[in-house]
Amino acid sequence: MTAQAPLIAELANLVTPTWRGGSPARPAQGDELVTAFSAAAGERIAAALRDVPDAATRLTTLAVALRDALTAPTPAETAARINAMMSRYAARPYLVEDEDQPFHLHFHGSGETAVEALGGEFATALALVVDGYGSNRLGMCEARRCEGVYIDLTRNGSRRYCGPACTARAKTAAYRSRQ
Ligand SMILES: [Zn+2]
Repeated sequence: MTAQAPLIAELANLVTPTWRGGSPARPAQGDELVTAFSAAAGERIAAALRDVPDAATRLTTLAVALRDALTAPTPAETAARINAMMSRYAARPYLVEDEDQPFHLHFHGSGETAVEALGGEFATALALVVDGYGSNRLGMCEARRCEGVYIDLTRNGSRRYCGPACTARAKTAAYRSRQ
């Protein structure tokens, strides 16, 4: 389940930041959002999204909820927001057997479309990160002018930035400030 972490952050980051990587962000909308998210999500999810007529609107709603959970101010608020998502998307566990893999547990949501199914999966993945690692593993990029979110699955919980570009920017800024 925690394998979904990069995809969860990707969806939130496609839609919700005002600033990203030092520049004003342009939220992905409509077909552009569905195409970009499908490319990140892989063929199984991409195929399911093609059957959802208003996928972009539903993905935007999910992205906003994910950002709210990832940027909650306190551990109690993080838990409350993830609990609300699991309830809203009606996440329920069931065993599936994917090709070439033994049976394993999925937590699809039971809402109307593939997006709600994904919402249940993502909400449960966030809950498992909090359960296994702690709510301090969910966060927002500390680089200047960036509101990218991340899920930190590093061994020592050392992550502070949304990706390699912001890590490099922050290092450069720190170097310059020492000159
Ligand atoms: Zn960043």
